[in-house]
Amino acid sequence: MGCPEPGEVRRKALLTFVIVGGGATGVEYAGALSELVRGPLVRDYRTIDFRDVRIIILEAADSLVANMPTSVCLYTLERLKRMGVDVHLGAKVLEVAPDTVILSGQDNISTRTVVWTAGVKGEPIANLSGLATERGGRVPVLPTLQAPGHPEIYVVGDMASIRENGRVLPMVAQVAIQSAIAAAQNILRQIEGKTPQPFRYRDRGAMITIGPKEISSVRKQAGGRMMIPLHLISGENKQKMNEVHLSFWK
Ligand SMILES: Cc1cc2nc3c(=O)[nH]c(=O)nc-3n(C[C@H](O)[C@H](O)[C@H](O)COP(=O)(O)OP(=O)(O)OC[C@H]3O[C@@H](n4cnc5c(N)ncnc54)[C@H](O)[C@@H]3O)c2cc1C
Repeated sequence: MGCPEPGEVRRKALLTFVIVGGGATGVEYAGALSELVRGPLVRDYRTIDFRDVRIIILEAADSLVANMPTSVCLYTLERLKRMGVDVHLGAKVLEVAPDTVILSGQDNISTRTVVWTAGVKGEPIANLSGLATERGGRVPVLPTLQAPGHPEIYVVGDMASIRENGRVLPMVAQVAIQSAIAAAQNILRQIEGKTPQPFRYRDRGAMITIGPKEISSVRKQAGGRMMIPLHLISGENKQKMNEVHLSFWK
């Protein structure tokens, strides 16, 4: 077999979509892209052989959505594979070059489209203000959400590294909203000369949807009733969350 033509190499790179990060955002993105590519785009671009389209998730850990129960992680992997998504676990990205993703100890991937979902960094303002920060520029806070040594400074939302029961709370909207409310209440307490109270996070559950197609197929099974499939869910009672649940809107 000879070397592929330069045009062929370019075409393959253009049809390769690399998603860095197999957390909730990466998984949702890959699912939605797969549905789009294998669905409407097939009808719109009849000259393209869609068997050449590759959707790849690169995840440094050995599991997708690693903070979810194991059965949910396995379900996600299986589901994405069935949708034609190529999942590379233990794949650590070293560099994203203009037309290549460079991996540690694995073959590089030629692509023109890279979607980065492997995390965000806090604004450098915390560091610049002299506050200690940890991974991602987040400020480790006391249970009251105050910065250590600074009872006059509260840090909430993505900027805060809030530790509860030995784990750092995830960077999600629920944590941001609840911590903001708790900090506001503590500020009012301080103004009234009272002691600030520790923040307690109420995990109301999480949902990751892997493409819209599943919604319609489940809806059909339910005789047309409106349903939301909760592919992946975790909540206050994690014991009960060892399988994939379906939730219904009646
Ligand atoms: C792609 C993606 C998908 C996500 N999906 C979900 C999801 O499905 N569910 C979920 O719960 N969470 C999701 N999240 C996380 C969620 O968006 C964050 O946890 C949440 O927005 C954090 O709220 P925040 O107020 O702390 O920060 P932000 O929402 O980031 O708000 C900070 C604001 O401050 C502004 N700002 C920054 N620096 C300065 C400055 N120096 N001066 C003035 N303003 C400044 C910014 O412009 C921004 O508007 C997602 C995040 C990303 C990136």
